[in-house]
Amino acid sequence: MDKEELKKLAKDKRFIPGIYNYCDRWCERCPFTTRCLNFETSEQHFSDPEAQDIHNKLFWQKLSEVFQQTMEMIKEMAEEQGIDLNNIDTEAIAEEEKQLKQSARNHECTQSAETYHQKVDDWLDSAGNLFKVKSEKLVKNIRLEVAGLDPSGEAASIKDAVEVIRWYQYQIFVKLMRAVRGELKGVPEIIEDFPKNSDGSAKVALIGMDRSIAAWGVLLKYFPNQEDEILPILVHLEQLRKNTEKAFPDARAFVRPGFDEKPD
Ligand code: SF4
Repeated sequence: MDKEELKKLAKDKRFIPGIYNYCDRWCERCPFTTRCLNFETSEQHFSDPEAQDIHNKLFWQKLSEVFQQTMEMIKEMAEEQGIDLNNIDTEAIAEEEKQLKQSARNHECTQSAETYHQKVDDWLDSAGNLFKVKSEKLVKNIRLEVAGLDPSGEAASIKDAVEVIRWYQYQIFVKLMRAVRGELKGVPEIIEDFPKNSDGSAKVALIGMDRSIAAWGVLLKYFPNQEDEILPILVHLEQLRKNTEKAFPDARAFVRPGFDEKPD
């Protein structure tokens, strides 16, 4: 797809503007794939299985095409708005960004999110044998067809819970970094009355926490002898959720395009 085709596609009314800015990027589970420009363009660029493999030349070729196209569009937009891209002090901006990133990393919420993803790794690393034993037991129960038991359902719930925890494990940190950076940077006076980007990012992080907490609850139900290990993780995550809600009191009310709007 070239630049002109992309511009034409972007004008298609079926796409919800900016929906991909406040989603969790879990496209396989997203009900809005047909209304997301990001999904559509990714499909067009990376539909070939070879283009999805980072070890394949085609993947890097496609990625380079996307970057080139993006640069061309940025240059075009800058020209339209009278901005001279060659006249921007990139060093000063890079230094400012570096400091901003460091300050965001020192924030209580992002630090706690970093600790959380480490705790998840530690537990999952130690749980290999636990899953093996459980899976053997469930396979045995499937064969025995014991009345009143649903081993297949249990296996599906455990698998789903682990997938959810894994999906949001790092995303919570990433979204909180974005939220804190946005908050530290502040917003220009002209858009002060608009919903804040930082609240949108904090909301996505909070949703990740909500779903992860529910998923940990599922694991606790099926691995009750892991209570001593799982409960501290749950408490940590719950504390992070409370601190995030305190640091971003308007985040829950942020309306994400598509997801929090009534259908047309
Ligand atoms: S809005 Fe949905 S389809 Fe689009 S990038 Fe996000 S998760 Fe994927």
